Amino acid sequence: RKKLALKLLETRKTLQIYKSRHELMEHVLSNKVTVLIGETGSGKSTQLPQFLLESSPDEKIAITQPRRVAAISLAKRVSEEYGCTLGKEVGYTVRFQNQSSPSTKIKYLTDGMLLRELMLDNDLSKYSTVILDEAHERTVLTDLLLGFLKNLVQKRDNLRVVVMSATLDAERFANFFDGCPILLVEGKQYPVERFYLPTGADDIVDTVCQSVVQLNSSELSGDILVFLAGQEEIDKCVDVINEVADKVSKKVPLMVPLPLYASLSPIKQQAVFKPVKPNQRKVIFSTNIAETSLTISGVRYVLDTGLRKVKVWKPELGLDTLLTTPISQSSAQQRMGRAGREAPGKCFRLLPESDYSNLAPQTEPEILRCDVASALLMLKKAGVDKVHRFPWIQKPSKQAISSALLKLYALKALDDNGKITDLGHKMAVLPVTPHLAGVLIHGCQSGVAQNVIDIVACLSVENLLMNPHAEVRDEVNEKRRNLFPQALKHGDLALLHGLIRMYMSMKDSKDRTLLCKEIAVNQKSLKNVLQIRQQLRGYLEKVCDLSENDDDKADFSTIIKIFLAGFINNTALGSSDRQYRTVNGGHKIAIHPSSMMFGKKIDAIMYVEYVFTTKGYARTVSPIDLAWLQEIAPHFLGNRQRDD
Ligand code: ADP
Repeated sequence: RKKLALKLLETRKTLQIYKSRHELMEHVLSNKVTVLIGETGSGKSTQLPQFLLESSPDEKIAITQPRRVAAISLAKRVSEEYGCTLGKEVGYTVRFQNQSSPSTKIKYLTDGMLLRELMLDNDLSKYSTVILDEAHERTVLTDLLLGFLKNLVQKRDNLRVVVMSATLDAERFANFFDGCPILLVEGKQYPVERFYLPTGADDIVDTVCQSVVQLNSSELSGDILVFLAGQEEIDKCVDVINEVADKVSKKVPLMVPLPLYASLSPIKQQAVFKPVKPNQRKVIFSTNIAETSLTISGVRYVLDTGLRKVKVWKPELGLDTLLTTPISQSSAQQRMGRAGREAPGKCFRLLPESDYSNLAPQTEPEILRCDVASALLMLKKAGVDKVHRFPWIQKPSKQAISSALLKLYALKALDDNGKITDLGHKMAVLPVTPHLAGVLIHGCQSGVAQNVIDIVACLSVENLLMNPHAEVRDEVNEKRRNLFPQALKHGDLALLHGLIRMYMSMKDSKDRTLLCKEIAVNQKSLKNVLQIRQQLRGYLEKVCDLSENDDDKADFSTIIKIFLAGFINNTALGSSDRQYRTVNGGHKIAIHPSSMMFGKKIDAIMYVEYVFTTKGYARTVSPIDLAWLQEIAPHFLGNRQRDD
């Protein structure tokens, strides 16, 4: 371990931040708050915590990341640089995973986890320094932390805060902290040549793969980094390149396609950092993660589709949806920069130049476009009663705040006076949205906790049930129906439940793999689900008594009714034209073809997810009884009759 650390020290010394460390530390140590700006890869996230620890062995440092991948990968790297076992002096805490101990002095954690610690200890008293990394990403959670820390540095004399950002929008942060100093770590950046497509791409996977193959034969060395919107496109591209890699001319480097996205297992994620053989070339297909969160050395070429997935609040539906949207120009600049870290590079934007000029200059912060229910519940839990008076770096709109408060009230997390209830306190402890937290707690009170945990665990991963290819779609659906007859009656939630139970009952790993293959289930995601269900149970045990619960009792009417109480906004009634109309608002919605309920005529449905492609679709659908709706939300049905 020490040998590796010594070897890595040589690499560390070449980082820009290492060279200016004395000056940097002088500033950081003599100010309560510092804003630190530096190019991606200049060494901020890995080095600053180590410099601090060298300056005083008593330091306890928390460093936050918007993404779990980054927290895990950084902790792993820094434990190697420091020369300790992961989880000892250097560790991490992310949702559903903890690798830290009382001896941990540098802890990487997601911003959500630091907020959870803050709810239990309002002063964050165990930390001497809190570093907010990737602040430019402006997630809702980062914004909340900024507000809390602003109050906390006034309250605590012995707390130091460093806000780090990869972009130059430092003024806003510095002004927020009453004009604190801004430090700049100059990064080396080589020129990057830009190219555009003459016309827009029709099929993005096709265009990407063709461009990669072309690039591979025209440029002899250097790795390729491709930015795509999400896991689905990434997996498709990896498959295509795997298929063609050894068929192309032997004179060109052998392409090694590697996926990179948040739900990938840590081992697979680490693969992007490993060097390949001299005649090979890494082709990394990544989501936004590689934009600033992770720095991968060796990249000389960037292919940018100009797309990413973002959570967007749909006021007319009252929920957040994941939408594929164009990135901003500042994101495109960041992505381009990844090609010029070590030598001059090239960036191919897979869109016409005129489209690029039309992109928004900056990405809108999440707090201005997402549901803030979860955020407000955290504030209430942390004792902030007047959410309007919280020091927001940018305040959500009045409409967003009041709709979130109403939602929390409907979930009984807040009482008539807007005070947090006992149920609300419990909900805030569970690391899922308030809706799902309510579902878990009700499940527990109704004696069916494990059943509900199993389903919620499935809903916590992306792409568990894949869309089968067109040629095998009928066959897959037939198998799903045969294996899980209960899903014909109770819908997709019953399918998820049956899937977990069946998978766990199989002891042979070959059987498990075969099952996943036959019914188009993403086995990686399913393995994740099994971990998450353990974790969820652990969290739930902290707030509820699970001893009276019977694991084997699966009465789907009870279970679906429990979900309905949390998802009352996600309901729709069947109308004559085979369409459904949302109960709240009367908008048109169709059942997604991936659902067991597709093509069926049902009086009323509940759905967990809303997706918009060519039209609005309900995904993960279960039939519900009109009588339940009447019981849980009589006012909704009343409205509908008036509208009619
Ligand atoms: P910044 O925070 O300024 O973006 P980092 O501290 O994350 O920079 O990265 C500094 C260097 O450490 C980069 O050159 C990167 O390649 C390397 N590095 C970071 N994480 C890992 C990892 N998990 N494995 C290998 N190298 C890493």
